[in-house]
Amino acid sequence: MSRRMLVSGNWKMNLNHLEAIQLVQKLSYELVDHDYEAVEVSVHPPFTDIRSVQTVVEADRMEFVVGAQNCHWKDSGAYTGEVSPPMLAKLNVRYVIVGHSERRQIFGETDETVNLKARAVIKHAMTPIVCVGETLEQREAGEAEATVEAQLRGSLRGISVEDLSALVVAYEPIWAIGTGRTATPDDAQAMCAHVRAVVDSIRPGAGADVRIQYGGSVKPVNAAELLSRPDIDGALVGGASLEADKFARIVSAG
Ligand code: PEP
Repeated sequence: MSRRMLVSGNWKMNLNHLEAIQLVQKLSYELVDHDYEAVEVSVHPPFTDIRSVQTVVEADRMEFVVGAQNCHWKDSGAYTGEVSPPMLAKLNVRYVIVGHSERRQIFGETDETVNLKARAVIKHAMTPIVCVGETLEQREAGEAEATVEAQLRGSLRGISVEDLSALVVAYEPIWAIGTGRTATPDDAQAMCAHVRAVVDSIRPGAGADVRIQYGGSVKPVNAAELLSRPDIDGALVGGASLEADKFARIVSAG
């Protein structure tokens, strides 16, 4: 078992394609070769930026990989406003975030649609980053573990042991996203260990290989301690990924 760390920058609905090019250029100056030895780095720009970012990353042989923040599950069709997995695969997208809590909460995504998306991403030879996480109310009611387990069982249904082993789960407590509140390293570790156990119970053997990111106000100041925990295999970073120096310091902590 050897799990390579994955640190992913979720830019959300920020930066136009020109700003996106500037950010990846700054990031490539900040990161040095040895950062990539231990850590794989992905950036997840808005759809309108992906082609520009892909072009710069490939032309300048940058070592990070291009990701997306969402997709539809169908290959094509009358789905106005949506983007399909084959369209992303054609842009050499490697990772696609599915089921981010903002999409679950604001856009009504369910475990069922997250599952359709995860399977569609896998079908097109990309890797889903499947997001799960509890609300503050659920945590305070002692329901955090059960909530995350139910999300995992629903979102990962019907995925083979091989595909589950290669997949990424992002544990993001909703109360920690964009709030400046971070889970303690002990709480984050405990939940990531729980995620691993649930994945292993869904498909015995997959737990050892699945990579589990922590997300929720990860910053340079807290990254090293979070990433040192045995079941935390990387970070999904929102706000801090928009600043090249901060994101690079998080990567270096891995
Ligand atoms: C996220 O968007 O997934 C996230 C964790 O955001 P932030 O780092 O800003 O809390």
